[in-house]
Amino acid sequence: MHIETDGLVIREQNVGESDRLITVLTSKYGVIKAFVHGAKSMKSKLLSGTQLLSYSDFTFFKGRDAYTVDSANAKNVFFELRSDIESLSTALYLAELAGELAPEMDDADELLRLTLNSIYLLSKGKKDKRLIKSVAELRAMSISGFMPNLVACDSCGEFQSPVFYFSIPHGNILCQSCNHGRPGTPLSFSTVTAMRHIVFSEPKKIFDFELTEAAQNELSYITEAFTLQQTNKHFKTLDFLRAL
Ligand SMILES: [Zn+2]
Repeated sequence: MHIETDGLVIREQNVGESDRLITVLTSKYGVIKAFVHGAKSMKSKLLSGTQLLSYSDFTFFKGRDAYTVDSANAKNVFFELRSDIESLSTALYLAELAGELAPEMDDADELLRLTLNSIYLLSKGKKDKRLIKSVAELRAMSISGFMPNLVACDSCGEFQSPVFYFSIPHGNILCQSCNHGRPGTPLSFSTVTAMRHIVFSEPKKIFDFELTEAAQNELSYITEAFTLQQTNKHFKTLDFLRAL
């Protein structure tokens, strides 16, 4: 059986002498692992369409035990990413995160679009890399069943507070008067406003905001900590990014 879908190559591994196994985040079927046979003797077209972080139109052949790539026509290879190690590392982390969150054999279009838009912005270098990472983390979590409750204080329903306390394990906020020394992470109102924007705005507008350095520091901390705690995963690509 053949299946056709667009997708982003989020991981690649060498297998034996000349084969590769790639992991693809597809729009129609979630995450697919597929073999690329004879990778070293392949025509360059298939090669570029199956390299790491290529966004391509794929045709997969589904055999009894595994998928193989029949064709891969690259639509964007984000080549500018390769000139900046921090952008590349952030992109690889966001790809790994999307791979963890994506379903198997189910629609993952929204997650794919988010990841592609994030990687595109990283490749262009015009937007703060930390902001892109935070947006991608929090939005990816939200569309994958981990949406935090940021509407109002979880206890009294207050919408505005100079400081909110975010509970990383519960994914909710408490206002200053309701927190009473509980171990939430204090966040300024502008950080909470940014998080609300990331979670609730339409896909095209999620990156359209700016933050002070202090608020960006809070946002970077909280989106990463929330992602790691809620997924309970260890991301090797994040270790690499942190070590830069
Ligand atoms: Zn309250």
